[in-house]
Amino acid sequence: MNIEREQLEMDVVFVGAGPANLAAALYLKKAVAEHNELVEKGIKRGVKKIDELEIGIVEKGSFVGAHILSGAVMDPIALRELMPDFLEQGCPVDAAVTEDAFWYLTENKLLNAPIVPPPLKNKGKYIISLSKMCEWLAEKCEEAGINIFPEFPASEVLYDENDRVIGIRTGDKGIDKEGHPKGNFEPGVDLLAKVTVLGEGSRGSLAKQLTQRLGLNEGKEPQVFSLGVKELWELPAGKFEEGKVIHTLGFPSDTQTYGGGWLYGMKNNILSIGYVTGLDYVDPNIDPHAEFQKFKTHPAIAEILEGGKMIKYGAKTINAGGWWTMPQLYADGVLLVGDCASFLNGQRIKGIHTAMKSGMLAAETIVSAFEQGDFTSKTLKEFERKVNTSWIYDELYPVRNFHASFQSGRWMALVNGGLQFITGGYAWGFMPMEHHVAGHERMAKLEDFNNEKFADRYTNVKFDKKLTFDKVTDVYHAGVAHDEDQPSHLHVLDTEICATRCAEEYGNPCQRFCPAAVYEMEVNPKTERRELKVNFSNCVHCKTCDIADPYQIINWVTPEGGGGPNYKGM
Ligand code: SF4
Repeated sequence: MNIEREQLEMDVVFVGAGPANLAAALYLKKAVAEHNELVEKGIKRGVKKIDELEIGIVEKGSFVGAHILSGAVMDPIALRELMPDFLEQGCPVDAAVTEDAFWYLTENKLLNAPIVPPPLKNKGKYIISLSKMCEWLAEKCEEAGINIFPEFPASEVLYDENDRVIGIRTGDKGIDKEGHPKGNFEPGVDLLAKVTVLGEGSRGSLAKQLTQRLGLNEGKEPQVFSLGVKELWELPAGKFEEGKVIHTLGFPSDTQTYGGGWLYGMKNNILSIGYVTGLDYVDPNIDPHAEFQKFKTHPAIAEILEGGKMIKYGAKTINAGGWWTMPQLYADGVLLVGDCASFLNGQRIKGIHTAMKSGMLAAETIVSAFEQGDFTSKTLKEFERKVNTSWIYDELYPVRNFHASFQSGRWMALVNGGLQFITGGYAWGFMPMEHHVAGHERMAKLEDFNNEKFADRYTNVKFDKKLTFDKVTDVYHAGVAHDEDQPSHLHVLDTEICATRCAEEYGNPCQRFCPAAVYEMEVNPKTERRELKVNFSNCVHCKTCDIADPYQIINWVTPEGGGGPNYKGM
């Protein structure tokens, strides 16, 4: 289809309205104003004032926060730098953490650790809904004159003839499932910018395209991911204190699988409860959603939930690889920030503060680029120097081997984790020092796996819709909506593999690792073969399939703008 597209020229375009980009845009406005004031007062000499910048943030969700999901306990260090009076300015924190606990769970028992591991001490931090916080930050951005475009998914990166990034294209609207324009067809827009900042979150679809095309992952370790599955519960008054934080290790994960649970007491007797499963698991039978449901059947957890009601559901991947898996953070005309650039601290299970700080350092770099009128790598590489000399480095470098040690199993990881904590990241020969195998390469074939031992993994999970929920019921509580008459945004590049090799070798694990019942193998009455059915309208945009598929033949691309989950208040 030959489409004429509108071109909009901006100075800076941010892709994704998450914490990294919202902080970046706000900080950029502030930094430009400060720069101009210093030039005006003659304190900064030899440089010109920067003209008012045209800044845009594109967001695929129907509103800012719609696709934002996290636990979340936030370390306010970056927010305090951005806005020292954030509480007075109305930042929607749910509660300050008053009590920490660390539980080790066996199948029926609970060991309450007498000492909470220091990385998991959260007193004085804030329990928040990250979705609410992003909504609030977006309001601050708009007050500062930043343009926010919800329902505008960025579908591709635009390059010039020298592979310099010159902006992004937003997705077309109004295409039917056969790929033909409908009556409401609106072509996507080309947003041209001097600097494009990708802050799309975990497994960003443009970040994936960009890093592959420009080789930004060369010399880096493969990224490893985890999937967090979460519910909000309304509990009887007094059942779980506001401000209380519990992290768990053990049940239901086996010792070869990275995993752990959380319970955070929010305002108004709301409990945030969830479970993280490493997507570098070995057993192809693992189902991260079912792991979470099983977690809730532990007597200590079930007792907390007794009398309560599940009110919301969501699932999202996180980049767990850390420092060694961080891509090159710049190229001509582009910077990468936040989760899509691996800024999460896996040991603390925290990434909001590092994401925001990465955005703010990117903003400082952009100011230098406008000062110099140079938007090439020569200037933008300054971003990496800023990261390497900031508290991000001080925090992430000492935990650079944290996740990799879990690829040797839980017990080795605990020994190594302790050693790393004492030595600042060294692991004394227990662990090979070339780390991180990509998760999809670690998945064992059914025939190579001891299935007898694990066959009854989920037989005790009843999915009774009181304590434990099947995927379809949970997805309903994620408020997911996609127009069904559009092309599927889940591109399965070779469905023949699904029906043949994958069925035999792995038992079609997409049916299990997707937390939203999108993938089903069912018999096609015409061919009488089991074939893949993709219920794309259930998709909660977690990106697990793009990551975990052992053949890497699933490509997640942005659907029509506004489609997806509704995580308001999550
Ligand atoms: Fe997540 Fe993929 Fe399932 Fe969508 S289809 S919910 S991205 S695993």
